[in-house]
Amino acid sequence: MKFTQPRLPYSIDALAPVISPLTIDYHYGKHEKAYIDTLNSLIEGTEYEDMSMEEIIKSADGKLFNQASQAWNHILYFFQFSPTGKREPIGKLRDKIEEQFGSFDEFKKKIEDAGVTLFGSGWVWLSVDREGSLFITQGSNAANPLKQGLIPIFVFDVWEHAYYLDYQNRRAEYLHKLWDIVNWDVIEARFDEAL
Ligand code: MN
Repeated sequence: MKFTQPRLPYSIDALAPVISPLTIDYHYGKHEKAYIDTLNSLIEGTEYEDMSMEEIIKSADGKLFNQASQAWNHILYFFQFSPTGKREPIGKLRDKIEEQFGSFDEFKKKIEDAGVTLFGSGWVWLSVDREGSLFITQGSNAANPLKQGLIPIFVFDVWEHAYYLDYQNRRAEYLHKLWDIVNWDVIEARFDEAL
């Protein structure tokens, strides 16, 4: 198998009560795993077999794009959380967020609004371009800003499978609680790597 599902850098109950062990079990253990398994089966024996996941996302369409992008978005999502860690950005990412969005609180509100107003299933990202500008975007289903030449460094999953077991229909509450488990050390490292 080309792509191996990366192990979580925390235990299954580490993010509770924000994300319960039951949700991690289904969301990481079944949903993310299925996207990676299906991606592996789709690329076997094809021209995509030797590509990175990012290259597949940029070049493929339809079913293959959907599986690769969902796998990639989920890995980005789960690795940004930690039961401990820095709960606010500092340094140049903090400065850039304040310059473009007014304040860290305004940035958080814009992310939450983008998540609440997205109709149906999808994602909300903070991405960076090659010049270091930040972009908050929302996208349906398996969308991915990599397709537009942006590099996502942060993402909230707003598919119902991400929150329904813990929050039922209360998507806004789920999005608001997620800030309590984001590890900004990870986001800052992604920001540095993207530049
Ligand atoms: Mn998901």
